[in-house]
Parts: sequence; structure tokens; C-alpha cells
Amino acid sequence: MSDNVVWHSHPVDQQARAEQKQQMPLVIWFTGLSASGKSTIAGALEQILTQQGYHTYLLDGDNVRHGLCKDLGFSDNDRKENIRRVGEVARLGADSGLIILAAFISPFREDRRLVRDILPKDQFVEVFVDAPLAVCQQRDPKGLYAKVERGEIKSFTGIDSPYETPQAPEVHIDAQALSVAESINRLLEYLHQAGVLKAGYEPVAVSA
Ligand code: ADP
Repeated sequence: MSDNVVWHSHPVDQQARAEQKQQMPLVIWFTGLSASGKSTIAGALEQILTQQGYHTYLLDGDNVRHGLCKDLGFSDNDRKENIRRVGEVARLGADSGLIILAAFISPFREDRRLVRDILPKDQFVEVFVDAPLAVCQQRDPKGLYAKVERGEIKSFTGIDSPYETPQAPEVHIDAQALSVAESINRLLEYLHQAGVLKAGYEPVAVSA
């Protein structure tokens, strides 16, 4: 970056935008293997938050690769750059007063740490969507594991590219044992305790 680029402070700041929206800005970052359930859980949580009047935006790993990150592949360096860019977009979203939900495999600890570090304190919630590889391979909603099996995809996380499990995530979801509804309830409970949900919350119905 050039020395001549100087940060310009503007009169409307994050606090003003958050007050207007009457909510605490936040980045809820879902990490886990492909098919562990990140997008499904993030999407369902966003739906509930939106119904309750919160202002949100869901950044989805597959979707950003159609635009913002379409020049990037899956080498270690490109994965890092993917997360760096998305982290910056998440930061801008939170700065605009939104609750950002970000669903990215984000396999490397260092990259997740970098996103945490660019956000104001207490505005990054790491959610580990934890399902064993065998369960993910069985779910395989996009047929990606089948493609890996046929040798059509290389450097796939969990197979021939590493996934570094979070060591101290704010929320650890056992996505094998919990249903989507139960996972949502864990997240609502956490957000309630963290003071993000202003008027309390109703747990979603869990079928027997
Ligand atoms: P990711 O975003 O982690 O790649 P997806 O959400 O796209 O994963 O896919 C997960 C798949 O697993 C979906 O088809 C979802 O319906 C299914 N699934 C089955 N059980 C669960 C569960 N308990 N939690 C989350 N997803 C589940």
C-alpha cells in the first residue's frame, strides 16, 4: 500500500449505524468440512433473525466464488486470499451495522485468526460445524466427494488438503448428533447470552 493512502474518518460511524438498526453488529463465522452443514445452518439462522427484525447478510463460500473471488482457485495461497477478501467484506458489513453470517470451510487457523483480528473486540463469533468426514461424504449434497473419489477434484479439504480444527471456538456444534433445529437453538442461546438478541428468543421447534 502506498504511503500516500491515508485513512479518512467520516462522521457516521459503526455505532451510529448500529443504533439506527437497533442491534449489535457481529460476524458469525461458520467453519467446517464441506457438507458439514455450514450453509444450511447459517441460512436457517439468518431466516429466523430476519423474521425477528434483525438486519443480516449471509456470505456463502460457493456464492462469492462466482463474483468477488472468481479469479481464485484452491491452492493454499488462493484459499488464504479468498478468506482475506471475505474477511474484509465481513468487516465492512459489520461496520455498516449488520449481523454478518459467513459460511466458509476456512481450513486454516491462521486465516480465521486474521479475520478475528481485523474486527473490533467481541464482534467475531467462531462457530465450528463439526461433522466427521464419513458423515460429510455420505451427505455430499453437491456431489463433490463423489468427484474427488473419481479423481476429478484435487486438493479437497479433509481428503488431500488439511482442515485445522478450531481450538477455542465460541460455539462448537456437533453436526452429527444435532439436528439443524437443535443447532439453531444452540446458536440462539449463545446469541442471547452474548446480549445480541435484545428481546430474548423463542427456541425453534425440534421434532422428536
Ligand atoms: P456446507 O455448507 O458445510 O458445505 P451444506 O449446508 O451445503 O454444507 O450441506 C449439508 C447437507 O447436510 C445439507 O444437504 C443438509 O440438509 C444435510 N444435513 C443433514 N443433517 C444435517 C444436520 N444435522 N446439520 C446440518 N446439515 C445437515
